[in-house]
Amino acid sequence: MTPEDILEDTINKFIGMGMFKREDMAVKDIRKEEYANIVFKPSIYENRKKVLNFLKSLDIVTVERFGEWKYLWSDQSLISGKMGAEKVVDGMQL
Ligand SMILES: Cc1cc2nc3c(=O)[nH]c(=O)nc-3n(C[C@H](O)[C@H](O)[C@H](O)COP(=O)(O)OP(=O)(O)OC[C@H]3O[C@@H](n4cnc5c(N)ncnc54)[C@H](O)[C@@H]3O)c2cc1C
Repeated sequence: MTPEDILEDTINKFIGMGMFKREDMAVKDIRKEEYANIVFKPSIYENRKKVLNFLKSLDIVTVERFGEWKYLWSDQSLISGKMGAEKVVDGMQL
């Protein structure tokens, strides 16, 4: 699958689950980042704080397991994504 196929497939699955309608979508994007995996070392707590504060200072909202650099379960990831989306929507003042 191409990245665009994955994006379209994901959107269609969410619509199929009744999570939102296509016309409710404000933005969509997919990209491959070179470094994404979480490496758990004793220094993660301090390093994670620095990264998250830096991203926050740029108004970048990061979510879920790879965005929070936390070992989240699926329900926690879903809530993290929902809260992040709400922050973005609030910031856009729709
Ligand atoms: C074997 C196993 C069993 C589990 N069992 C449970 C369970 O019973 N209950 C439960 O609640 N949770 C369970 N989990 C945890 C659950 O899978 C995660 O909590 C959940 O998938 C995290 O969702 P996420 O969207 O944050 O990350 P993910 O679902 O991991 O999504 C991250 C996405 O990023 C993509 N990606 C990776 N690298 C890159 C890159 N470099 N560039 C761009 N994209 C990239 C991946 O392809 C993936 O689609 C289990 C996990 C595993 C591995």
